[in-house]
Amino acid sequence: MKKRLTLTFPKRAIQIPITYRLAKDFNVAANIIRAQVAPNQIGKLVVELSGDIDELDAAIEWMRSHHIHVSLTLGEIVIDEGVCVHCGLCTGVCPTQALTLHPETFQLTFTRSRCIVCEQCIPTCPVQAISTNL
Ligand code: SF4
Ligand code: SF4
Repeated sequence: MKKRLTLTFPKRAIQIPITYRLAKDFNVAANIIRAQVAPNQIGKLVVELSGDIDELDAAIEWMRSHHIHVSLTLGEIVIDEGVCVHCGLCTGVCPTQALTLHPETFQLTFTRSRCIVCEQCIPTCPVQAISTNL
């Protein structure tokens, strides 16, 4: 199964080779979706972990025991309406039709309840109007 997590590393845990340890010790594959290191050396990773459910839970426990904050909550997609130019490019990649153009007004419509936060729309926007609140 897969779990998407936000991992926050305090300064003392930032050197842990996390993807290596997850693979070697738990047979869990980590696909890094986003990485961010703040100037004060706090790191944040958004990862999708794949593996056996028991191994995933053990891996999460292991990370927590190493002072890594693990959040299971998904972020949400945010559309900046002041920036969007309603070009419709993002609607072409959205797998759930959460993003559509209104058939009459041709304005972008975002149906949040349909969004699975796959983030495929983010890089398609030419004016960077799409982001997550993670
Ligand atoms: S994150 Fe994925 S599902 Fe949500 S609006 Fe973007 S493309 Fe659609
Ligand atoms: S790709 Fe960007 S500018 Fe175009 S409709 Fe989507 S959010 Fe708006």
